[in-house]
Order: sequence, then C-alpha cells, then structure tokens
Amino acid sequence: MIITTSKPFEEVLKELEGEEKVFIVGCGLCATTCETGGEEQVAEMKARLEAEGKTVTGAIIYDEVCHELNTKRKFRENKDAVEAADSFLVMCCGAGVQSVRESTERAVHPACNTVFLGNIQRHGHFMEKCSLCGECVLEDFGAICPVTRCHKGILNGPCGGTDEGKCETDKEKDCGWTLIYNQLEKMGKLDRFRKIYGLKNWQANMKPGRVIFEKKGEGGE
Ligand code: SF4
Ligand code: SF4
Repeated sequence: MIITTSKPFEEVLKELEGEEKVFIVGCGLCATTCETGGEEQVAEMKARLEAEGKTVTGAIIYDEVCHELNTKRKFRENKDAVEAADSFLVMCCGAGVQSVRESTERAVHPACNTVFLGNIQRHGHFMEKCSLCGECVLEDFGAICPVTRCHKGILNGPCGGTDEGKCETDKEKDCGWTLIYNQLEKMGKLDRFRKIYGLKNWQANMKPGRVIFEKKGEGGE
C-alpha cells in the first residue's frame, strides 16, 4: 500500500490562504489505513477548517481516489458541493491528488506527504521493502530486496560496515545483506554470493512509468 503522513495543519492552512470554500476528498483505502485520510481524519479536518472560518462545501471519502474515472464520477455525483468550492483539499497520496487535478480546473492542494510503498507489519507499523525499481531481482536474493533493504542499495554486498546484523548507517536498522545471507544459507544457496552483479538497469524505472494492458485479440498475445 501507499504510505502517507499528514502535513502539519499550519502548512495546510497556508495552502488554502485566500480560499474560503473548500471541498475535502479522503481515500477509503491506503489513506484510511494510514489514518491520514479516512472518516475520522476528514471529519477532524473539516472541523478544524471551519474553526478557522473556512466553509467546507462537501467532504467525501471513497475507494481509489487514484482511479481517475472513478474520481470524475464522484465529482459528478457531488456536483453542487464541488461547484461551490474555490479549491480541493485531498487527504491521500500524490496519485490521488493528481487524480483530482484531472477532475477540476480549480486549485487542488495536498494534505499529506507520500512517503513509500509499504508493507503493513502490524497496526500503524509500515515498512518499505520494495522501491519499485522496475526490474525485480528478488529471485537472486532469497526474496529480500537489496535495492531497498540495504541502505546503500548495493547489489554486491555486504559493504563491510555491517555490525552484528545491524547497518553501519543506523544501528536500529537490520543490515539488508545480513538478512539476505541468512536467508540464502537457510535455502542452501550461499553459492549465489559468488556471483558478481553488473550494473542494474535503472532505466527500467524511468519516470513517468506507464503500462497499458492490451486485450487478447487487440494486438496482444
Ligand atoms: S528488486 Fe526492485 S521490484 Fe524487486 S523488490 Fe526490490 S525494488 Fe522492488
Ligand atoms: S551495513 Fe548492510 S545494509 Fe548497511 S549499507 Fe552495509 S550492506 Fe547495506
């Protein structure tokens, strides 16, 4: 899931300077799990903005704000409140904010910072284990990602700074390469340590990424 954190309220107020009427959008998926844009947070934001003298013309929460057609449909369903707004405050990831951008010509503001693609370890604990490199090498590393779990992202590790399983850059964090070694040892595949990896193809995650699935019979296989 996409991990977000809330921007400080003062920053949000600054974004909304000069705009009196605001429409709030929250997301029922990732931002709800992160507690940055679910029912409770949207209600709290509405109350705080109203206490600052703003008019909240509407507030909606729905799944997949990042789905642009769905967002356009939600805006049509809430036409009066949407049209009454000077601007939109979006309480979810940057993809959701830009989905709203596609639905209006008016000002669109982010209420969150988007930080990473994260695994949920337990309630409120998120960890980055994949950094979306575009060409996955997990197969060679016991399904533990050196690009993300090693703090230097090296493919031929460890770096020499590993200390009792912790990383030299941060003693609180596990050394990704110790994790990889232990996993390969369990699998009886330590011979993989002998392989020297060449340069990774970083062009595989050139921005902006775009994937279009072709349906069978329309040029696909
Ligand atoms: S190798 Fe790339 S795609 Fe695979 S887990 Fe790591 S960052 Fe993600
Ligand atoms: S100590 Fe381990 S995780 Fe840290 S940079 Fe070196 S190899 Fe990577």
